[in-house]
Amino acid sequence: MKRSAETNQPARLNLLAMEGIVLVLLAIAVTGGFVLYRNALVKTVMHKQALSVDLVALKGKAAALAERSHKTETKTYEDYRVMLFMLDNVIESAAAAGNPDIAGALTGQREGLRNLTGTDHEIFLVIDKAIKQADLGFHSSLDDSIRASNLFILSVASIFLLLFVASWKEFHRNYTMTLIPLSRLTQKISQINRSIPESIHDTAEEIRHDLVLSPHSSEISRITDTLAEFCSDIEAKNKKLDELFIRDEKTNLYNYRHFKEHLIMEIERSKKAGNMVSIAMIDIDHFKRYNDKHGHVAGDQVLEQLADVIADQCRASDMPSRFGGEEFTVLFPQTGTETAMQISERLRLIICAEPIAHERGQPEGRMTVSIGIASFPQDATDWYTLINNADRALYHAKSSGRNRVCTFSAISNGEENE
Ligand code: GH3
Ligand code: MG
Ligand code: MG
Repeated sequence: MKRSAETNQPARLNLLAMEGIVLVLLAIAVTGGFVLYRNALVKTVMHKQALSVDLVALKGKAAALAERSHKTETKTYEDYRVMLFMLDNVIESAAAAGNPDIAGALTGQREGLRNLTGTDHEIFLVIDKAIKQADLGFHSSLDDSIRASNLFILSVASIFLLLFVASWKEFHRNYTMTLIPLSRLTQKISQINRSIPESIHDTAEEIRHDLVLSPHSSEISRITDTLAEFCSDIEAKNKKLDELFIRDEKTNLYNYRHFKEHLIMEIERSKKAGNMVSIAMIDIDHFKRYNDKHGHVAGDQVLEQLADVIADQCRASDMPSRFGGEEFTVLFPQTGTETAMQISERLRLIICAEPIAHERGQPEGRMTVSIGIASFPQDATDWYTLINNADRALYHAKSSGRNRVCTFSAISNGEENE
């Protein structure tokens, strides 16, 4: 029987568990990494935005002071204090936003701010440049933040897709390799249940054949193996039972029950087809004497030996059986008295010639049999009378000297066949 490729089931389960763990760890790592990265990005965006706002405010304050200088209005000490405070604030923001160049450039303008006049353009050029740079930095870190968010969504979606594909594959494998074969097996088992004992062997073969053609898991292989073994066991036991039911234990010929069933069947067939059925009743001569002299074990060996000779001399269609004790019968289907007589006569002579242990002690100096023959429909109208009349012919053979074959038709006509 074909075995599934999946033979190492525990290893496969481990692999599945590993795949699951790896995917979960991957999801945790991606989420955690993203949260940290995104926090850093948001901070940077906020610092850059704050720098931009501070720079604009500084520029506004500086412009207001410059305007007042231009109009030669008096600037208070307080104005400069606020101005310098704002400058320090911007320098701090620039350092926090990761723009040391802006911080450096503005530190260099400290003195210029203190002595700000209406025509001082350089300081505004520096502030404008810093605003541009801060804006660029702000937009660039904002883009980074958006990109990171997109990447995160993509990663989570990919992990879900992977999980979905893995689950689908597992479901599909179970469906095709286990569920479908299992439902087929169930159908077959119910077939077996219906058809025991005739077709159990065929059903087991069908199950094996089906399994070879379809994909299946190792569990299904195991179930099918067990089922096929179970079918073979039942088949073998049924055969044994059949044999026990129809065979005689001592001689291995058919038993009386089987002989009788077939005799009834053959008579029915003969009634329809219009042909004859004959039977021969065979009895060993002076067998009691043989047993008394040599014991029943030796007697049993003679029974076995003669049973073999009778079976050998029968045609394939004939049915040799043990009637009981030291008596045998042969059923000759579709056979008339004359042919049954010829076969029986040949059998008698062969038994006469058969070397048998201690046969010299028998009255004739050899082991002999007497045979009575009766045929349907000429000698009887039913199976029971047919057996009875064959027995009467046998009795006649015994009473007229033994070691001979007599037919019922002959004795009923007052004749005797020698
Ligand atoms: P006849 O020629 O008139 O048939 O004489 P017979 O001695 O054969 O017949 P009888 O009916 O007097 O005895 C039959 C004997 O067959 C009795 C019994 O010892 C023997 N016999 C019957 N069944 C068995 C058996 O299974 N094994 C053995 N060894 N002997 C058996
Ligand atoms: Mg007898
Ligand atoms: Mg006898």
